[in-house]
Amino acid sequence: MTRTGSEYIESLRDGREVWYDGERVKDITVHPAFHNTIRSIAGLYDRTHEPDLRDVLTVRAPDGGRVLRAYQVPMTRMDLVAKRVAFKAWAEASFGFLGRSPDYMATAISGFAAAPHVFTGATFDGAPNVLDFHARMARNDLFEAHTLVNPQIDRTKTPSQQEEDDLYLRVVRERDDGIVVRGAKMVGTGAVFGDEILVGTTQRLAPADADYALSFSVPVSSPGVKFVSRASYEDKARSVFDYPLASRFDENDALVVYDNVFVPWENVLVYRDVDVCNSQWWKTPAFVNFVHHGATRLWTKFEFLTGIALLIAKANNTAKLPPVQAQIGKLMGWLNTMRSMVLALEAACETVDGPGGPVQPNKEISCAQLAVGPELYPQVLNEIKLLAGGGLIQLPASFQDLLNPETVPLLRKYIRSPGCPTEERVKLFKLAWDALGSEFAGRHEHYERFYHGAPHVYLSAIVREGDTDAYERLAQTCLDGYELHEEAP
Ligand SMILES: Cc1cc2nc3c(=O)[nH]c(=O)nc-3n(C[C@H](O)[C@H](O)[C@H](O)COP(=O)(O)OP(=O)(O)OC[C@H]3O[C@@H](n4cnc5c(N)ncnc54)[C@H](O)[C@@H]3O)c2cc1C
Repeated sequence: MTRTGSEYIESLRDGREVWYDGERVKDITVHPAFHNTIRSIAGLYDRTHEPDLRDVLTVRAPDGGRVLRAYQVPMTRMDLVAKRVAFKAWAEASFGFLGRSPDYMATAISGFAAAPHVFTGATFDGAPNVLDFHARMARNDLFEAHTLVNPQIDRTKTPSQQEEDDLYLRVVRERDDGIVVRGAKMVGTGAVFGDEILVGTTQRLAPADADYALSFSVPVSSPGVKFVSRASYEDKARSVFDYPLASRFDENDALVVYDNVFVPWENVLVYRDVDVCNSQWWKTPAFVNFVHHGATRLWTKFEFLTGIALLIAKANNTAKLPPVQAQIGKLMGWLNTMRSMVLALEAACETVDGPGGPVQPNKEISCAQLAVGPELYPQVLNEIKLLAGGGLIQLPASFQDLLNPETVPLLRKYIRSPGCPTEERVKLFKLAWDALGSEFAGRHEHYERFYHGAPHVYLSAIVREGDTDAYERLAQTCLDGYELHEEAP
């Protein structure tokens, strides 16, 4: 069975070491920097028990129990479609603002399980561990976070060339029962809310960096795992009315330090193997599964933002003006570009290399989604800001001004529009500001640009993964079709 929200909340009271604003947090489930978002995630788990969503969000496992559909290894295109319907149902619950909901890593882990042979290296065979890991996470309905990026210390140096040899996470000791690791990783989004963290690297490593070529899963409450959280927007949000998104969907980002953390062998997926370390993302469906989830969420977010734009245009009574219709048209075009990319990467799905015949989202289209989504997101925000005008800023400090007898008549008189009374207008524009301009919104703009890596990494991936020969051939066919002295007919 999948967990209930309250079971999830209870599981977080495990002594995890979270540092926030100069203090160690005693219990994140009641701390104002974290508690509302925890309840939003708990709400996702509760949805898996709702009669009309149970079959959307979960599937029957071989042992008869139900597991999150995101953990399913898809065997057909329709399985991929069903996974997307499940991603969308959860994405709509946060309007696309919880990027690292538990289904995100769940689908990546199903990608590992679709091609376990990739984890068989020359000196370490992680394949059996991958299958056990997948089964354990699905069966226990666990929330896996991930930290795959080394800290930005000196990007001109490889991990082993950094000033100290344990700045980037590495293995420092091998024991009969496992390994001890030390170092840091960034940016642990949602990691403080998880059960375990997948620690790995997406950076291409040289043979000299073998100590850094690791992939493993570690419980969040393991001794030595320390989180240093960024400022919490939830903490600063004074009310849901004033900051409806930041107050409920602030999924947190933290520096994660692994200070002599013990990892049992059964949790190790890749060990001191630079080739397998890299292949785990590109030769299994893990990365394209990330994209399938992220693209579905971004499509949902574009639907939400377009809805905000439509409501603003109505509130400002500009909806029927031809230039405003053109702005809305642009937003709907972008929304449907995102939607089309999700449908296309499913329609053109490919068989995973290796035995068993699972399918995966189309690699080239998945990479293309990364070339387009991060470019479009800031443009969407910009277009809606242009549409909204000064109303985004001309807002009372808080809902208190709508309750105060001195200020409420002023606000009622001057902040309104035809068919849109003051409270409704303030409510709408405060939501819009939280989506477009608040600190929370700024973090989201940055997230959409970087959550799948830096552009120089994902844009070169499309060249590597794409059918460049076919495009060259087509251009060459044209070149071959005429000679130096050929006259125009
Ligand atoms: C909000 C947010 C949430 C995130 N959540 C997670 C998470 O949950 N888990 C996780 O593992 N990661 C997460 N990330 C990290 C994310 O994966 C990285 O930020 C991303 O991979 C880029 O790496 P970097 O930040 O180290 O940038 P860098 O690699 O340092 O690159 C920054 C810029 O420097 C330049 N640059 C650097 N190196 C080169 C080069 N070799 N060639 C050309 N140009 C170069 C480019 O302009 C590049 O855009 C998150 C990031 C953000 C912003």
